[in-house]
Amino acid sequence: MSGHSIVSSPANDAKVFADRLERARQSMRAQGVDVALLSLGLDMPYLTGYNAMPLERLTMLVLPAHGDATIVVPVLEAPRVTLMPGVFTLLPWSETVDPVAITARLVKESTPESRVVAVGDQMWARFLVDLMPMLPSTQYRRSVDVIGSLRMRKDQAEIDALRSAGAAVDRIAGELQAGRIALVGRTEAQVSADLSSRILAEGHDVVNFAIVAAGENAASPHHHPGPRVIQKNEIVLCDFGGTMNGYCSDITRCVFTGEIASDVAEAYAVLFEAEAAAVKAAIIGTPCEEVDAVARRIITAAGFGDYFIHRTGHGIGLDAHEDPYIVSGNSLPLEAGHAFSIEPGIYLPGKWGMRLEDIVVATIDGPDSMNHVDHNLIAVDA
Ligand code: ZN
Ligand code: ZN
Ligand code: ZN
Repeated sequence: MSGHSIVSSPANDAKVFADRLERARQSMRAQGVDVALLSLGLDMPYLTGYNAMPLERLTMLVLPAHGDATIVVPVLEAPRVTLMPGVFTLLPWSETVDPVAITARLVKESTPESRVVAVGDQMWARFLVDLMPMLPSTQYRRSVDVIGSLRMRKDQAEIDALRSAGAAVDRIAGELQAGRIALVGRTEAQVSADLSSRILAEGHDVVNFAIVAAGENAASPHHHPGPRVIQKNEIVLCDFGGTMNGYCSDITRCVFTGEIASDVAEAYAVLFEAEAAAVKAAIIGTPCEEVDAVARRIITAAGFGDYFIHRTGHGIGLDAHEDPYIVSGNSLPLEAGHAFSIEPGIYLPGKWGMRLEDIVVATIDGPDSMNHVDHNLIAVDA
């Protein structure tokens, strides 16, 4: 989830959403799903442009495989929905009715007696718990199985949005590498707040995260920036991103506050090579797990295999983390429009950590990187 803002799609017109809904129906029919129920999460915004508020009142896109889409929405939130006649019907509910019963009725009206329902991962459990007894003879599936493959293949407008967001965080990383973001003497939390305000100033609507991890803290990949004061002569890992016009940025660069220690420089050379090789390997038809293996083989050959403790990457789009995952066990071949991070890391507990991350789109012309700012570990006087 990426905050409370409404997703404004880069292609905010009815035809785009009508097409996406139709492709979702085709995918559902192909997989024997009778109806998709999409509440919180980004499947509903992907299909309709509307992003529900993450509150206790039910908002639900009811999408039958054969039939018209309906958004069940709290009456007080109905004015937030951009109406698209012919694309979906809006069904506002008032405070004294049971919106789960309304949802169950729509499902019954549009599906056979015994049915398969796909639900979004982020629907509140309370809605599903209430819904299940209202729909006997129903099998449940995850909506990612039917909608995920559509969301994975980005169209040109989506790729343009990812590129704009990527260029924005590149500019911030460039400032960091130029020594124009003060580090030594400030806390990780202060630098994180600085990065966050720059993420917004560069045009993002929301900050998704701004990890700043200094020295030994960088050995924790998802370190929460805290009161630790950044010292001279240590590595500072910065991993940050936000959402701009609905699409996410995500970049990691490391800098060194002083003369780079030789053990750090040697490990970074390995990381640099691994990241570049994985980006180069991200061509159409290559299984996701092979891209992971390319980075991992290089890091393992250099003796750091035990210190690369996470997958090489995650898909990115409306969500900061979505399919496809660049991980061992994912044999999915890359397709044109797949967008994902390549972010190997090396983490030596108690000493230091490092990660290098770009967002890459697989295209017919080869891997297309959304990030171009210097990939080296740069010594900064900041
Ligand atoms: Zn991460
Ligand atoms: Zn990141
Ligand atoms: Zn990432």
